[in-house]
Amino acid sequence: MKRASCNIAYFCQLQQNTVIMHQQKSQIHLAAELIYNSKHLVAFTGAGISVESGIPPFRGSEGLWSKYDPQVLELDYFHQNPKESWEVIKEIFYDFFGKAKPNAAHLALAKLEEMGLLKCVITQNIDNLHQAAGNTVVHEFHGNSQKLICTSCAKHYVVADLNFDALPPLCVDCKSLIKPDFIFFGEGIPQVAHNASLKAAEEADVLLIIGSTGEVVPANQIPILAKQTGTKVIEVNPESSRYTDFVTDIHLKGKAGKVMTELLKEIEGME
Ligand code: NAD
Ligand code: ZN
Repeated sequence: MKRASCNIAYFCQLQQNTVIMHQQKSQIHLAAELIYNSKHLVAFTGAGISVESGIPPFRGSEGLWSKYDPQVLELDYFHQNPKESWEVIKEIFYDFFGKAKPNAAHLALAKLEEMGLLKCVITQNIDNLHQAAGNTVVHEFHGNSQKLICTSCAKHYVVADLNFDALPPLCVDCKSLIKPDFIFFGEGIPQVAHNASLKAAEEADVLLIIGSTGEVVPANQIPILAKQTGTKVIEVNPESSRYTDFVTDIHLKGKAGKVMTELLKEIEGME
């Protein structure tokens, strides 16, 4: 008797899984159709797209801020404690981020650009992985950790220019403190990326959101703005986000690497 009920439970679970798989499959097909028929596809990415490259998000139990103190990215603290801040910044953004490689989801976006479908990527990430994958039009809403800037004369540097053995790194011209060229807490959004992102959101007829909670302001306004202009929204995330119930038309529930691989395959099959 026990064995029979166990088998029934197993069979029901199997049936349920199959239904979910079918639902997901048809959702993938619908998303692929939207993308294939789009005139102006834009991607909007968050920390989640880089998780499978080994870069954890900031928040949550596995997040970077469970290990490090976020005050190193507060501008006043950074200026008052440059050496201590730089020791942590070097460990997170240069020893750790620096080794990360694009994953299947980044590569799928590069392929969509190559196919002429994806017009640009708006990213909240600072890890340079979209460019490393091959995307050429990337609006970096929060800047880029691979670029650095002198806090006094604004001379620009790339990571390869710097020697991180002696911290903090100082400008070769004016000997002032060098800062990573991504925004610290309380800093404004870079004007060029901000304007380009707003324009892209208005132009988009399909927006593909990948791996963002939608909690970071003002970046989280981009999908809302797009939606207000009638854009269809596809979201890839294993969890629900602030967008899921209000902005998203199709939620592809799963990890970015797997979902984007399946989505790309479906789109390529339409060619
Ligand atoms: P977030 O940290 O608030 O949320 C990450 C989201 O990704 C969550 O919704 C989570 O469910 C989802 N996610 C987790 N694993 C995933 C996977 N494998 N595939 C798809 N989605 C997955 O991210 P956010 O909304 O981008 O905001 C965080 C802020 O921190 C941003 O401002 C960003 O600049 C910064 N940040 C950047 C990096 C980076 O450059 N890689 C890393 C950490 C944080
Ligand atoms: Zn300088």
